[in-house]
Order: sequence, then structure tokens, then C-alpha cells
Amino acid sequence: MQKTLQATAIAFGCASVSFLHMNAQTQNTEKKQPNIIFILSDDHAYQAIGAYGNKIAQTPNIDRIANEGALLTTNLVANSISGPSRACLLTGKYSHMNGFKENEKDDFDMNQLLFTDVLKQSGYQTAWIGKMHLGSLPRGLDFWSVLPGQGHYYNPDFICQPNDTVRFDGYVSDVVTDLSLDWIKKRESSKPFFLVIGHKATHRQWLPDLQDLGAYDDINFPLPENFYDNYEGREAASKQDMSIEKTLDLKRDLKVHGDYVNHPSYNRFTDEQKKIFQNYYEDKITREFDDKNLSGKELTEWKFQRYLKDYYAVANSMDRNIGRVLDYLDENNLADNTVIIYTSDQGFYMGEHGWFDKRFIYEESLKTPFVIRYPNVIKAGTRNDNLISNIDWAPTVLDIAGAKIPDEIQGESFLPLLAKPKINTKWRDASYYHYYEFPEPHHVFPHFGIRTERYKIVKFYGGVDNWELYDLKTDPQEMCNLINNPEYKGIVTELKKKLKDQILKYKDYEALEILDKSK
Ligand code: CA
Repeated sequence: MQKTLQATAIAFGCASVSFLHMNAQTQNTEKKQPNIIFILSDDHAYQAIGAYGNKIAQTPNIDRIANEGALLTTNLVANSISGPSRACLLTGKYSHMNGFKENEKDDFDMNQLLFTDVLKQSGYQTAWIGKMHLGSLPRGLDFWSVLPGQGHYYNPDFICQPNDTVRFDGYVSDVVTDLSLDWIKKRESSKPFFLVIGHKATHRQWLPDLQDLGAYDDINFPLPENFYDNYEGREAASKQDMSIEKTLDLKRDLKVHGDYVNHPSYNRFTDEQKKIFQNYYEDKITREFDDKNLSGKELTEWKFQRYLKDYYAVANSMDRNIGRVLDYLDENNLADNTVIIYTSDQGFYMGEHGWFDKRFIYEESLKTPFVIRYPNVIKAGTRNDNLISNIDWAPTVLDIAGAKIPDEIQGESFLPLLAKPKINTKWRDASYYHYYEFPEPHHVFPHFGIRTERYKIVKFYGGVDNWELYDLKTDPQEMCNLINNPEYKGIVTELKKKLKDQILKYKDYEALEILDKSK
């Protein structure tokens, strides 16, 4: 409780503290603990969501959550890859503290304190359904049913308690939602519940639900202004392997002349599904590709269009399924006492800098969507611009639950910022980031840095050894590395000091050693 009380005492004074932050026991008697549904997708970019300003994407249900609650404009991740982000959620700590730094090398140690343990102690039933992908089976939850690894889009297997693999017919976003609603129906209704709905969407290789194939084929997506980035002054960016031009694979990713027979998902299709899939990708898309006989920029731009068309189509099913959850809450008189959150494990490039994938501290992968509806506490249409981090997700959920936030959690609850936006709550002025996974799969050099309201300073290491500085006010696309610009000398000194303060605050001693050795 100490942390929450300190933060809110500054913000509200003690009178309001008693309203928002009663301990669980008091809250049970005075205010019912709300149910909490945490919908976590995979690689869903904020720039591909209507509520974040996209005019093409069909995301009415994510938009509905945002309109009926709050939208965070600057929700940043601590380490922009999937497993590590989920580990940040579970622990409320940075990767160097929870031990899960890289998807490829690490398995998450489930035997550490998880925020779901605290929820359970506070009287919640807890469940995680869908994608988890942490290399370990879930621990300490009342119920779980998770996709093995990355999972399949069609007719997916699930690992069900205690450790059985079961195949379910259907499209993964539907199945995850079916299982989730089924669990809500069967839960013990005398207790509040916390449920993570973990979506596989919108992860590579973007196999849409058959009903959504071609949903965006009439759209000509605008190329991002910096699609043809030449990476001048940014050595790490120039050495990545995640470009639409070179890395995105025609066969594997875009299903052109697809090696269907050997595709692990294709082999799970029914004959009817095979026919529809083949009609679309072989008879329509591959034929179009062959007819055009593309090369150079035309080929790259065609790949960009196909990438976005499939990606957006995959998101259609997920959004529709979020709508099913919202409808279920309405129809079962649960909407008023259920907090619903939608977020993604990190951001994603939709052609900015010529890329897909994530990893870099640059805006599109650093920032991830986050919308929350909390009736009677968060006013409809709330917008928040504070520097929120995904290490704050766990303590915020605990705060909503009226549970004690353990001292070892590094994040802070941002509930006060949303519930009482007019009060000038003290909040961080820099958000710390550290990425590790190198060289596979996308050859992005490890780096750490901070994002402030206006600036970003980054230290790359492990093969390149340099600094980058961006002024987001004058250069929101992060094209101009200002680190050696004499006009910014004072800013650089100030930001390096701030970076060191953050490193010390969060006890990232590996980064400290690199920082102390660098110029
Ligand atoms: Ca991800």
C-alpha cells in the first residue's frame, strides 16, 4: 500500500485517498471490487487503430472502449518484444529485474512474485486464456488455457490444465474469446475476477480469418513519409534486418506462390478452408503478382500494400471479438462493475523507416496502444499524455483491485492520472528503456535510453558503439540524429544525467557499466 499511498497523498490529499485506495478489506464493505478484463494483443500498432487517428482501420470496438473511457497517448514499453513485455506485465519490473530479456534465449521464471498472486490474495479469481508465450506454463492462476508458443491462427491447439494439449476448431481470435466467455459464465460469481484475454493477433505471418480475406483489398494505403529512409547518421538503423524491401518474405509472409503444403498452419486447415485460402492467395493474389511483373520500388510498395492488407484483416477479427466481450458484459449486467483494458505487448512498424517488426526505441515500437473503460471512476473521453510504462500496468491493476502494491514492483499506478485528471499528480519526466535481443532474428543492436516529453537519448552497444539524440518536437519521425549538433550540447549533458539517474533508480547495473565506460 505504501507506494500507492505516497503517490496519491501528493496528488489528492488524504480525503481522496480514502475514496480510491481503501485496502481490500475496507473496499469489500464500502465499494465492490470491480472485475477486470485485460485484453492483450500481440504486435498491434497504435497507428493501425481508429481511436489513435487511423481513418482506414475498422476497429469500432477498441474505439468504443477509448470513447467510453480513457486513451493513453504515450504508453511506452520497457523492452519492445513480446515475451519480455508480458514478463513486465506479470512482475511490474524491468527485464533486468525479472530476468526475461530475450524471446529467443530466455524462459520466464514463474517462481517469482507475480501481480496475479497479489490479486488472488485480495480475493480475486484469476485466469489467463490465449497467448502467453513465456516458455513456462502459467503458475498460481485459478484457470488457464494457453496457446503453445506462438500458437496457430487456424484450428489451434491449447495447453489446458494441468498439461494437456487440446485442438479447437475455428479461428484463433474466436476460440480465445469463446473460452474466455465460457470461463466468465462458469466462474464463481461471489468473487470478483481478473482475466487476461491473450490474442495471437496481429502477429506475423498475418493469416486473416477466412471471412476477412480481402477486407482491405480496395484500399490503397498511404506510404509513410519516411518509408524510403536512408538511415543517415543512425548506424544501428542502417544495419537492421527488418525491412519490407529485404526482409519481408513474399512466400512466407505474403503467401505469394506460397509453399502451402509445407506451411504448418495450412496443414491444420479443413479441405473447405484450404479451398478458400487457396482461391484467395493463389488464384487472386499470386496471379495479380505474376501479372504485374514487379521490380525495384514498385515491388517494395506492392509488398507494403499486401503486408498492411493482411495485417489489418487479421485485426478485424480481433476487434470483432472484443465487441463480443463488450456485448456479453452489457447483456449480463456486468458492464458497470467490470473494468476493461485493451493494449498490445508492444508497438509495431507499419512501414515507417521502411520496416515491419519492433525492437527499436523509436516511437512506433516504443509506444503501444492502451485504452481502458472504468465506469463511474474514469470519465468517458479522457485522454492522457503522461509517460506511462508497461511496468505500470500491474500496479495499476492492483490499485483498481484495491490491493496492496508490493514494494518490489518498480512501476507506479497511473489510476490517479485517469480518475482525477484535473489534479496535477506528480509523475515521471523520463521513461527508461532497454532492449537486448541480438543478433537474431532481426539484427537490431542492443540499446538503452530514455524518452522524455520532448527528447529521446539512446546508447547503442554490443557491436556498434554510439549515441543518438532526437528532438521529437522538431523531428517526430526521428530522422535526424542530433547527438553531435553543438546547439544541443547542453540538452545532451542534461539527458545523460537523467539517463544515469533512471539507470540507478531501476538498478540496471549492466547498463551502468556500459554508460560509465562510454564517452
Ligand atoms: Ca509482440
